[in-house]
Amino acid sequence: MDKIKLGISSCLLGEKVRYDGGHKLDHFLTDTLGAYVDWVPVCPEVESGLPVPREAMHLVGDSAVPRLVTIRSGVDHTTRMRQWAGKKIKVLASEDLCGFVFKSRSPSSGMRGVKIYSPDGIPTGTGAGIFAKAFQDRFPLLPVEDEGRLHDPALRENFIERIFVYKRWQEFRSLDKTVGGLVSFHASHKLLIMAHSPKHYSALGRLVADPKQHRREELFGLYFSTLMEGLQLLATVKKNTNVLQHMAGYFKQQLSSDEKQELQNVIENYHRGLAPLIVPMTLLQHYVRKYSEKYLEQQTYLTPHPLELMLRNHV
Ligand code: SF4
Repeated sequence: MDKIKLGISSCLLGEKVRYDGGHKLDHFLTDTLGAYVDWVPVCPEVESGLPVPREAMHLVGDSAVPRLVTIRSGVDHTTRMRQWAGKKIKVLASEDLCGFVFKSRSPSSGMRGVKIYSPDGIPTGTGAGIFAKAFQDRFPLLPVEDEGRLHDPALRENFIERIFVYKRWQEFRSLDKTVGGLVSFHASHKLLIMAHSPKHYSALGRLVADPKQHRREELFGLYFSTLMEGLQLLATVKKNTNVLQHMAGYFKQQLSSDEKQELQNVIENYHRGLAPLIVPMTLLQHYVRKYSEKYLEQQTYLTPHPLELMLRNHV
């Protein structure tokens, strides 16, 4: 797989573009995830023509359509930012991005939870920064996160799983536009989807089982939007345990009663929070290899992202 292309708020890469001339370098993004990613940096405030340093800004007014206003002198930069964002988004549409990592709490780049104030400076609610909102409205299926939320192991794993699925979908769509290809794509993602949402797993299964219900492009669009919606739900311990038990069922014939008991103990330890997911996965991967279990061999759930990211190593 080629490197994954992700948009990112420039200051997270260490670029000194913040209002105070500083940056917000995030080492996980640059040093760890960066090994698999081609970053496309975006600084809405600087690229829309504002200088470094500059007066700090915040969001003011109606939470549905807040304005971007400097805090001390009250200069309104909303129109400038909206016009620039419209043009920038057209450029980004041709970049084949698989996601975007936003700077949290920024009135331009924050994807959610950015404070909105009344004209006299009282916090009245929260929303998204002006550019981040326009971006998410234009690309609703693209995985997005902010660097603050990526410190949470579950949210980090979820985001990274989704960008890898997005990339695989992009590659599949560039090579294969057949319904048979879609069926194969779905077959290899079944357990991953099940771990996120049994409900979406069933819906997607029905979709590929009866593809003639839709015109082909409509089918692909519906499949992908349902897939990305399902993957947004977190793969919890309970849902993962269900998938692990499902996998264990494939080895009923081959394993001795002692081995079956060992596998059950390992899954139970994961379920009770005594072992990370990597532990039962490693044992199951061993059996998948040993017995060349064809259905499980093709499952992206076995290795949804590089081991080096160590996303399944936490309890
Ligand atoms: S938060 Fe966004 S607008 Fe602010 S410096 Fe970083 S990239 Fe630029």
